[in-house]
Amino acid sequence: MVITRFAPSPTGYLHVGGARTALFCWLWAKKKQGKFILRIEDTDRERSTEEAVTAIIEGLSWLGLHWDIGPIFQTARFDRYKQVISQLLDQDHAYKCYCTKARLETLREQQLAAKEKPRYDGYCRHYPPVHIDAPHVIRFKTPETGAIIFDDLVRGKIEIQNNELDDLIIARTDGTPTYNFTVVVDDWDMGITHVLRGDDHINNTPRQINIFKALNAPIPEYGHMPMLLGPDGKRLSKREGAVNVLQYRDDGILPQALINYLVRLGWSYGDQEIFSVQEMIDFFDIHQINISPTALNPEKLLWLNQHYIKTLPEAEVAQILIWYLEKRGIDYRNGPDLKQIVIAQRERCKTLVEMAEKSKFLFVDEVAFEGDLAKKHFSHDVFPALHGLLAKLKEISNWTQGNIHAAITAVVESHHIKLGIIAQPVRLAMTGTTVSPPIDMTLYLLGKEKTIQRLSDAISQMQTPI
Ligand code: GLU
Repeated sequence: MVITRFAPSPTGYLHVGGARTALFCWLWAKKKQGKFILRIEDTDRERSTEEAVTAIIEGLSWLGLHWDIGPIFQTARFDRYKQVISQLLDQDHAYKCYCTKARLETLREQQLAAKEKPRYDGYCRHYPPVHIDAPHVIRFKTPETGAIIFDDLVRGKIEIQNNELDDLIIARTDGTPTYNFTVVVDDWDMGITHVLRGDDHINNTPRQINIFKALNAPIPEYGHMPMLLGPDGKRLSKREGAVNVLQYRDDGILPQALINYLVRLGWSYGDQEIFSVQEMIDFFDIHQINISPTALNPEKLLWLNQHYIKTLPEAEVAQILIWYLEKRGIDYRNGPDLKQIVIAQRERCKTLVEMAEKSKFLFVDEVAFEGDLAKKHFSHDVFPALHGLLAKLKEISNWTQGNIHAAITAVVESHHIKLGIIAQPVRLAMTGTTVSPPIDMTLYLLGKEKTIQRLSDAISQMQTPI
C-alpha cells in the first residue's frame, strides 16, 4: 500500500512550491490507490501559527487535494517522541550531550579558523560524563564509518559518507524533539512509503535514513523535487515564491486551472498541456519528475484559466462565480440566471474576477457612465434611432434574444444606419461601459424592465441641454 504525506510547517501560507509538492504526493497516492496524509509539523511553536494552519487547510481544500488521514499535528505526539528517544538512549544509538554553548562556540570558531566545516566533535560521545545532573541535549550517534546510499526518485543515486555528518541533536535542552527526528518517527509510525519534498531537504535525508536504520524501521523511498524559478528563469523571489495559493483564488483563478498549471511544473507527458484530474492520476509517474528546475509562467496560468472558464460546464463555473459576486456585495439571486451569464461572458474573460466585474451591471439598480463616455456616445444624431428602439423594445411581449435582435435590426433598417451607430450608445446605457457581450444578449440578460429603464434614462439625458 502506497502512503504519501504532505508535511508543511505552519510558519507561512501554502505557496506554489508547497502546493506542487502536495499535488504530486496526492497524485501518487491516488494512482496507486493508496493513502495521502496531511501532517502539520508544528513543533516550532514560536514560528507556527493558527492562521497558517487554517490557510494551508483552506488552500488544499480549495485545490481539491483532500487527505485521507489527518491533519495530524506533531505537537500532539510529544509522548511518542519521548518514548522513541528513550529507546534510542537505551539501545546506545543516542547520548546526552552536556557541552555548553561557550564550548560549542569556541569549537566552531576553531574549525572556521582552520577552514573546516563547523560540526560537533563528538566530545560527550567519546567522554561521557558520569553522575552529572546538568542541562543537556540528546544527540543521535551517527555511524562513524560507512555511507548512506539511496536511489532518489528524481535525482538517481545519492551517496553521502557518514563521516561528513555530525551527531545531530534530536532533543533540545528543554526536551523538545527536533525536526529530523520527528519526521522519522512520523514517517515510520504512519507507514510512509514515498517521501516527495523540495530539494532543500536533500541534506536531511541521509541523517534521517541513519535514524531509520537505528530504529530498525523500513526506509521510505525519497524524491527531491527541483526548485521553482521565477518567470525570468532566476531564483524565485520571496514575493513570487511566498504568494498564498488562496491569492490565486482571490484573483479569479479556477482551482482546475491552478492544479493543471502545477502538475506541469516539473512533470510532463509528451507535449500535452491540458489534463483533467483523472488524466493526471492516470498518467502521473513519480519516476518521471524532471530533474531540472522549472520557471513559473503566469501567462500560461491565465491561458489555462481561460481554457477552463470556456470548457467547464456552465453550471460548474456559475457555481464558482457566486463567490466572486458575493465578495463584491452582489446578491446573485437578484439577477439573471448565472449559467446564462457564464455563456455570455466566457469568451471574453480570463478570470472570474473579470467575469464578476463585467457582470455587475446586471445586478445593480443603475449604472454610472465611465469617464466621458456619455459625452462621446450620447450624441443628438443617434437620438431618433434610440427613440425608435425604445418603442420597439417596449412592444416585445416575449423577451427573447431573437425578438430583441429582430427589434434592433428593424430599427437599424428603418433609420438606414449601421448597427455600430446604436450598439455603442445602447451598450453604454445598459452597462456604463462600451464593452459587453453581443448587444441582444446583453439586453436579454438585463431583462425588459431594466433595459427600458436604462434606455429611457439615457434618452432623457441626451435631451437635457448641457
Ligand atoms: N516540514 C517540512 C517543510 O515544511 C517538510 C518536511 C518533509 O517533507 O519531510 O519544509
